[in-house]
Amino acid sequence: MKISKRQKEIIEIVKRHQPITSERIADNLNVTRAALRPDLSILTMIGVLDAKPKVGYVFITDTPKSSLGKNVQEIKVREVMSKPVVVDEGTKVYDAIIQLFLNDSGTLFVHSNGYLVGAASRKDFLKIAIGGTDTHQVPVGIIMTRMPNIVIVKPEDDAYFAAQKIIEHEIDCLPVVETVIKDNRELYRIVGKISKTNITKLFVKLTQ
Ligand code: ADP
Repeated sequence: MKISKRQKEIIEIVKRHQPITSERIADNLNVTRAALRPDLSILTMIGVLDAKPKVGYVFITDTPKSSLGKNVQEIKVREVMSKPVVVDEGTKVYDAIIQLFLNDSGTLFVHSNGYLVGAASRKDFLKIAIGGTDTHQVPVGIIMTRMPNIVIVKPEDDAYFAAQKIIEHEIDCLPVVETVIKDNRELYRIVGKISKTNITKLFVKLTQ
């Protein structure tokens, strides 16, 4: 978002005199308070200034967030996650592939005794299939990516943080987990998933 010359002047005044009321900013610029109102609204909306009631304006950052960025950072993973497809690690690769189709999903999460142990994606299954392995014999636990290499998020994490992880690790889908401490070990119960599709849907929703 481009900042106008007037808005830059306002930012400089606030930086120098904060906290400062809108009357005093208006005096400094030799304009009326009414003339200043739209610029102050924009600067607070994009997160450059904060308006503290009964105190005045204070400076926050020189790097404004777009309003879309601001919204994304307020939304939690639990609000955008969807139902995960989960199979037991003993499930044969053939049956796991059927689950992938039935649930119209690209990634399966794998559990053992109810706790996350791995993830298997379309390409993992393709590799096994073209390698000539008997998919009726081999369990998904053999071909999956294993813990502790699984990238996870928690329901209370920001959706923005989840999107960053998806990009950083070049993966399509993250399991959303809750931590359970058992025998002094940290285990994860799978409560949802967050995929590129969830993030794309959120993007469309926020821009409507
Ligand atoms: P694909 O390669 O099928 O398009 P991904 O890019 O998501 O799907 O998967 C790439 C690799 O990362 C696969 O080997 C898969 O097992 C693994 N993987 C999938 N999800 C995760 C995850 N959440 N954390 C770590 N690895 C994952």
